[in-house]
Amino acid sequence: MAEGGTPPRPDTDLLAARLLARVCGVVAVGALFAWYHDGQAGWNTPWDRYAAITMSGVYAVASLLLWRRPLWLNTVTAVALGITAVFFLGTLHEAARIESAVGLYSMASNAQFMPLVYVTAFVAMRSGAALLSWGMYAGVLALYGWLYGVRGLPPDTPFRAMSSHVWAVLLFVHPACILALQYIATLKGRLHRAESEAQQGKERFLAMLSHEIRTPLQAMLGSIELLALKVQGGPEQRAVDRLRRAAAQLDTHLRDVTEYTRLDSPGWRLHNEVIDLVALVEEVAEQLRPQAERQGLALHHRVAPADEALLRQVELDPTRVRQILLNLLGNALKYTLTGEVILKASRLAGPPDRLCLEVIDTGIGIPPEELTRIFEPYIRLEDERVQRASGSGLGLAVVQRLTARLGGEVSVHSTLDLGSRFAVILPLVARQ
Ligand code: ADP
Repeated sequence: MAEGGTPPRPDTDLLAARLLARVCGVVAVGALFAWYHDGQAGWNTPWDRYAAITMSGVYAVASLLLWRRPLWLNTVTAVALGITAVFFLGTLHEAARIESAVGLYSMASNAQFMPLVYVTAFVAMRSGAALLSWGMYAGVLALYGWLYGVRGLPPDTPFRAMSSHVWAVLLFVHPACILALQYIATLKGRLHRAESEAQQGKERFLAMLSHEIRTPLQAMLGSIELLALKVQGGPEQRAVDRLRRAAAQLDTHLRDVTEYTRLDSPGWRLHNEVIDLVALVEEVAEQLRPQAERQGLALHHRVAPADEALLRQVELDPTRVRQILLNLLGNALKYTLTGEVILKASRLAGPPDRLCLEVIDTGIGIPPEELTRIFEPYIRLEDERVQRASGSGLGLAVVQRLTARLGGEVSVHSTLDLGSRFAVILPLVARQ
């Protein structure tokens, strides 16, 4: 139900098409049953008989098309409903020729079903529902007008009284139904526009946050590193270290907040390309090596030699994989006091083959009851040993959501005081 130029929404459209395909399937079977049953009963007009079997065919084809080609939702619905309307009118016309109770009953009852067609049009069609509904209504109105007004009803039938009832439905219920549907569609369109404007505002803000704040921050981080080379010991050294930590934390928080919020936006897309994963793993490890050295931790990165050639050409989104690794490795360093941190990449033999990225540390570990909670946004565990470790509580939430978007899953094994192992399993698309 999206009048007023509502832009298409692929996910919702796909769901709507799938749902409508099922409904059409049910209608097709129902119409087939009606055709068989009514054909046996013999109380309907020949047109009724053809209508039922034709409608069954039309809806079976519509069901198939909607299932296989969900993007054709609008066209398939419009055509199926258009044919339905023609058959309604045809049945009506035929019924009017039978000057008996059956004919008049059929005439009167047909009109009641038209609102169902209007509702279906407004629910399923992304545009043109109002035009189609008013068009169908005009057709019904014209036909009834002709039947009652020009041709006239058979005199003295006990069913003449029905005409006023039918006219009341036609003149008041039908337009009221279409107008109400149009009103709901307009409201929904407005709501959707307001929603997308708010979303655009949020995206502009995020773009500003990521560009206008992170760019100077990168410059600051670079200058702090230069400063650190000049300053040797003393209170200046401690000040530079504090500055460096604070700037790095700010950078990480901004990255997590921007990515976490951006994940909800309809414009969020994966940018897959063929990448050298071995080089990416090295790059991430090198980026965090200075931090590991400052903390006195050993940082290793390993790629299984047998998989190296394969992993040098895999199809992945490098920015998102880098962010997953940076978050996991950053956490491993943050929550490890002594020992080592290892970043591993390997292939998990299939079928299908999958990619396994692991971050293993000898850190403080995580209590078993907290293992699922840590992936929730803004959840941070208290531990006096790492009181100074700052964080937004979004790092693992971003990892989990990004991994899911990449078609994979993340798991964690941890033993208190001994360390943790985070594993991200992703689909492996190798380009040999
Ligand atoms: P934060 O910004 O607090 O690091 P995360 O979402 O990345 O947020 O992590 C949530 C919590 O999970 C952390 O506060 C920490 O208590 C725990 N955690 C994450 N990684 C590790 C790890 N490698 N070792 C121990 N605890 C961890």
